[in-house]
Amino acid sequence: MKIEQLFKRLDEVYPELVELRRDLHMYPELSFQEINTPRKIADYLNELGLEVKTEVGGRGVVGILTGGKPGKTVALRADFDALPIQDEKSVEYKSRVPGVMHACGHDIHTAALLGVARVLSEVREMIEGNIVFIHQFAEEKVPGGAKLMIEDGCLEGVDVIYGAHVWSTEPIGTVGIGEGPMMAALDSFEIVVNGKGGHGATPHLTVDSLVVGSQLVLNLQQIVSRRVDPLKPAVVTVGTFTSGEAFNIIPDTAKITGTVRSFDESVRALIEESIEQIVDSTCAGAGASAKFNYTRGYPAVCNNPEETKRVENAAENLFGKNNVKELAPIMAGEDFSYYLQKIPGNFFFVGGGNPEIQAIYPHHHPKFNVDERSILLIGQLFISLVCNYLSQEKAKPIREEGIYLNS
Ligand code: MN
Repeated sequence: MKIEQLFKRLDEVYPELVELRRDLHMYPELSFQEINTPRKIADYLNELGLEVKTEVGGRGVVGILTGGKPGKTVALRADFDALPIQDEKSVEYKSRVPGVMHACGHDIHTAALLGVARVLSEVREMIEGNIVFIHQFAEEKVPGGAKLMIEDGCLEGVDVIYGAHVWSTEPIGTVGIGEGPMMAALDSFEIVVNGKGGHGATPHLTVDSLVVGSQLVLNLQQIVSRRVDPLKPAVVTVGTFTSGEAFNIIPDTAKITGTVRSFDESVRALIEESIEQIVDSTCAGAGASAKFNYTRGYPAVCNNPEETKRVENAAENLFGKNNVKELAPIMAGEDFSYYLQKIPGNFFFVGGGNPEIQAIYPHHHPKFNVDERSILLIGQLFISLVCNYLSQEKAKPIREEGIYLNS
């Protein structure tokens, strides 16, 4: 099997993948509400003649390609959910669904993985081993689809797993790689302050939940700045604060939600404890009470050293040493961590930034976009990794031809 032939096929399929990506982009679906996206994916995989499992763990789709020769089993994963954001781009394929948008590139991941499935399915007789295509729902929302799909058996018989994330703030043509803890543990919390509502003109007869909530928002800022070891990364972010509906009414309740990110388990525990303590003391000081809920979400993404080396070698070989960077850990979370708790693997980042097409905004931004050629780069890396893992094959460097690469 010549990897270069497979890349050529991927190039030929690319226009179809762009079309697919744009269709997903126009009709995004929120986490745990995906209906048409998994159907489109299953249709595509069925057309390739793969064994297809639907409703895996809920809304996941798994395609299984059994090679013509016996061997190991590689899993490749792409997520397919979107975010509750209004698309503010001015491109013809912008979201047609009000308030919902593919603002994290999961449409790119999906298109890339489907392209890889098509290309590899065409040479199935020559493949020494099996490939499992994991199309995961609900990455953006705890408890996430990964855990549920694993519980439903998507990793059964799988020896290794790779996942890719396009990254808009890194230029197209580059790959970011990291060993060990790469992405933070992701927790969330909810606080409901109960005061005593009343007339805006008689504050002395009330317990103002809005003021207590405001104090809480500020007091929570002291956890990272004053309590956590400055050499250990941590984030406490309040994302929502809702209280009151009329200008002359002191509201009964205030609701605060937020997220906590950390790498170290002891930091994680300290933050949880600190929030609870601050909630109790702030409310007690004002005569209010509170309900506090802390939900542990995804664990930290921890890349296996040996597989990290394999990805690094493959990426350097394909795109040139200068285009492969070692990435510092990031505070964003990913439920790819659950796969890596079960089997070895690697989660890597493929640049998608390109100022020429306004792909300059960060992830989860209303104008987020990436260079669609990242579909090809992810596809090439996936193909390379599969060939390398199953039959020790290496691709020839393609940077020279590199129409889709920066110099
Ligand atoms: Mn994402």
